[in-house]
Amino acid sequence: MGLVSSQGLLSQAQREGYAVAGFAAYNLETVRTLLETADALKAPVLVQTTGGTIDYVGLPYLAAIVGMVAQTVSIPVALHLDHGDSLDRVRDALSHGYTSIMVDGSKMAYEDNVAFVRAAVGMAHARGVPVEAELGRIGGVEDELQVADAEATLIDPDQAADFVARTGCDFLAPAIGTAHGMYRGVPHLDFDRLDQVREKVSVPLVLHGGSGLPDKLVVSAVKHGMAKINIASELKEAYGEALRAHLIAHPAENDPRRYFLPAAAAYRAVVEAKIRLAGAANKA
Ligand SMILES: [Zn+2]
Repeated sequence: MGLVSSQGLLSQAQREGYAVAGFAAYNLETVRTLLETADALKAPVLVQTTGGTIDYVGLPYLAAIVGMVAQTVSIPVALHLDHGDSLDRVRDALSHGYTSIMVDGSKMAYEDNVAFVRAAVGMAHARGVPVEAELGRIGGVEDELQVADAEATLIDPDQAADFVARTGCDFLAPAIGTAHGMYRGVPHLDFDRLDQVREKVSVPLVLHGGSGLPDKLVVSAVKHGMAKINIASELKEAYGEALRAHLIAHPAENDPRRYFLPAAAAYRAVVEAKIRLAGAANKA
């Protein structure tokens, strides 16, 4: 059905008490696998691309691929800029048809973050596109950006209300103890804090750092109000691991039309599991 705004996807999820899933995709193979899997599960979905992915694939190619594959499925699909770090990046994504924008000013001083997000909101809303922003600082590694544990800070619920009111952002990613990348130990999520944020702001909330998070914590996060979960690292791990195992087991294999198949199957398994976990199956 083509690309749609993410606003309706997250609003419906918030209303009905599940989370829509946003997945990283990196090339034609992963985009097709993602959308065909979500389509089979009748799940609305976001294709999420960071600046690093955009630079790797090329923005016109990426937008065209996602747009074309979205036409072939019957679920609503949003094309999402993940962790946009500049207004130029936002402008480029919008001009290529992105239907969902996230900007990450969490490394900035608070007032600078507010100004950055407000500017991005102005640009995106002019095209009817919603904006997600992050408050507090989520730890771990995202693209080239590494946030040490000591630099990660949890969201202040009172500041969240001020932030949403002043920026006009449509979705909020509150830092509550998750991290980007895979977890070394079992993370501690601050659900009391999440409940306070949920009381103070009305916009849908987004869980970053969903990769490798134990299933029961994901389910709890959704129960406590997260309306979107983001998955990236777990997909990369599955895709790369399956490709590596296949090539090691078949050292003479030289046909990309064959060796990407087990990688796609591994990617598909993660997508399916997370959609079911989030409760998004049959919501399209
Ligand atoms: Zn993130």
